[in-house]
Amino acid sequence: MITRFAPSPTGPLHLGHAYSAIVGFDMAMENGGQWLLRIEDIDGQRCKPEWEKQIYEDLEWLGLWWPEPVMRQSDRVGAYQTAIDSLKAKSLLYPCTCTRADILHALAAPQEGGSHPTGPDGVVYPGTCRPAYWFEPDFRSHPDAALRLNMLQAAGASEPRAGEGHAFWFQEDGHGPAGQRGFIDVLRRELIDSIGDVVIARRDIGTSYHLSVVLDDATQGITHVVRGQDLFEATKIHVVLQRLLSLPTPIYHHHRLIRDENGKRLAKRDGSRAIRLYRQEGATRQDIRRMIGL
Ligand code: GLU
Ligand code: ZN
Repeated sequence: MITRFAPSPTGPLHLGHAYSAIVGFDMAMENGGQWLLRIEDIDGQRCKPEWEKQIYEDLEWLGLWWPEPVMRQSDRVGAYQTAIDSLKAKSLLYPCTCTRADILHALAAPQEGGSHPTGPDGVVYPGTCRPAYWFEPDFRSHPDAALRLNMLQAAGASEPRAGEGHAFWFQEDGHGPAGQRGFIDVLRRELIDSIGDVVIARRDIGTSYHLSVVLDDATQGITHVVRGQDLFEATKIHVVLQRLLSLPTPIYHHHRLIRDENGKRLAKRDGSRAIRLYRQEGATRQDIRRMIGL
């Protein structure tokens, strides 16, 4: 068993991170496995070396250990580009020049329902830049555009044939936000209607969380992805990318989220809950485990 913890160095680790890290660590140790650390620093604007350093300190203080060297996404630009090129070669991506305002404008156009479906990445992209299926995407005219996944193509490419099971599914060993567990089918309609053409390569960083996480989990040989329930829906995108890139799908273990006394999920901006602050106030690592119910 290989599990991992994949924080982004955009702020201090809080109790929610401690929970995720410890659950993954304990699971690996109980099974004679390995717990890997990965620094998700693709967003150079928001990631800072100070935060990365503090991640190592906090995790060590929590009593966790991990093999070196630690994978850092900023070192993996080449791997991400190779995957993007292969998806491009299959015409599964297309350039999108829409601004956020363009997308909202397109969505505001009068239409039946009124409300717009939102998926793991926010509102479902209205498809403005998606080429009609008989056209090849024109990457050359838009070298700096974001690249979106053509979900119609991607989901359709593996439509289940008679006698075969569903093309997209994953095994959930933890719980989704609605208690989902076991074999989770990801339906083609759901991919198209509720998730849509997600961005695979952002204009500013040339990749995306979804693409990077899928490639990194495969490269690190992760067998069990332990992470918060907030990423359960995103897993559906990850499964599609794994199929398209011929990568294995790990087992997923989504866990509960640590909330504050008002039931609000902890966020990095609530600096008051930084692990470092508890530490400075004299808390022990056992205190932290107790606080998060471990
Ligand atoms: N880097 C992500 C975060 O800090 C976690 C990614 C994952 O576990 O898949 O929220
Ligand atoms: Zn567009």
